[in-house]
Amino acid sequence: MPQGFSTGKSVVTVQLSGHQVIEILPITPLVIEHRLHRLVCPCCSTSTCAPLPADVELSRYGPRLSALVGLLGSAFPLSFSKTQALLDQLLEVKISRGAIAAIRQRLSAALELPMAEALQAARQQSVAYVDEHRCPHRQRRRR
Ligand SMILES: [Zn+2]
Repeated sequence: MPQGFSTGKSVVTVQLSGHQVIEILPITPLVIEHRLHRLVCPCCSTSTCAPLPADVELSRYGPRLSALVGLLGSAFPLSFSKTQALLDQLLEVKISRGAIAAIRQRLSAALELPMAEALQAARQQSVAYVDEHRCPHRQRRRR
């Protein structure tokens, strides 16, 4: 049993004390390059290029990055320039505002039908389950 520092009496462990440091891994973009053979016919100079594999995104931006762009433009309504700056500073992803707009349009189009179906299903429910409490930061204090 350990001895007390000044008294020389034995001490008893009552409780373990923990200290956690929360950290995140460095975030770096994952770039996957697909190289396509392009051939030119020596007779007629016709150029042909291999197609991308069927499972490769046609967009230059993958589904997770696209989903993040959608999230930043909806749940955290960031402007195009703030989305662009955040992606650059946080993820080191350089993306144009036009590309952000294209991603948002693609996501909106992809979500249009499922959103309409979810809305229709919600309207057919007998109970809405809507939280009508006011946001705490908007409540006024009465004195
Ligand atoms: Zn030819």
